[in-house]
Amino acid sequence: MAERPSAIGQALLAICDQWTLLILQRAFLLHIRRFADWRDELGMSESVLANRLKEMVAGDLLRPVPYREQGRTRTEYLLTERAIELWPLLVEIWSWERRWVPRRVGLPELTHDACGNRTDVELGCESCGQAPVTARDTVTVRGEATFAQVTVPRHHRRTVRGERDPLSYFPETFELLGDRWSTVILAAAFLGMRRFADFQSELGVAPSVLSHRLRRFTELGVLAVEEPGARPRYRLTDKGLDFFGIFAVIVDWAQRWYSGTDLEITHRTCGKPFRPYLRCRSCGHPLRRTAMHFAIPPAGAQ
Ligand SMILES: [Zn+2]
Ligand SMILES: [Zn+2]
Repeated sequence: MAERPSAIGQALLAICDQWTLLILQRAFLLHIRRFADWRDELGMSESVLANRLKEMVAGDLLRPVPYREQGRTRTEYLLTERAIELWPLLVEIWSWERRWVPRRVGLPELTHDACGNRTDVELGCESCGQAPVTARDTVTVRGEATFAQVTVPRHHRRTVRGERDPLSYFPETFELLGDRWSTVILAAAFLGMRRFADFQSELGVAPSVLSHRLRRFTELGVLAVEEPGARPRYRLTDKGLDFFGIFAVIVDWAQRWYSGTDLEITHRTCGKPFRPYLRCRSCGHPLRRTAMHFAIPPAGAQ
């Protein structure tokens, strides 16, 4: 009998799919809540969209609410509290892309309404208040459960639209998080796994899938090969290590919304469990979801 899925495993199943991430992103940034609007905005096929919305309702990320239009009852989909609590993930993704991914089309600007500045964010430790905290200031260890257990890819991968689509925004992140194996392999790298055989035995991932992802991560500059040859050793680059912020907010979200402790991140400085919070780089105050906004660049803007 299969063991109970871990919190991270459940979280990855729920969100680490490119379409799911895009649907969430549009709901957050453009307040989209209707079928036709996602379909038109993302150019999705109706069957794929219907399938994802159904999964997201089942996974308690979206809540269907009836509304009347032209005498007919239709359904719109509101973000649940569980989904709304993913907002730091969107902000961290934005911040990482801004630092690491060169692009021709501008990202949205983040304004901290509390101080009025256009800003960026820093990751801090809620236990002791220190910020910024980086991967090097933390230790990640595995808990009881195997976090990779339920990460069976169910969907075909899709290439997100290119940079000409200003709303794709986060192409590299979506490649890293957009399928469950990628995310799990990245998580394993944060746990200190370095060799092909270690990833494979820990994750039970097919060699072809693993070598494809490791090659792609190397191309993206997230991993680097340290000892090329028959038994290459991979290490996280600075760009890969900086992905820690995204990783940490996913782990935190997973542990708040799903059961089964699987990864523990400790902040070395205070010795307490690392609970991430985001702080405004301009004023140093914690960022609150209700006191920040993204300004979306007009389509075609440079
Ligand atoms: Zn701390
Ligand atoms: Zn501020």
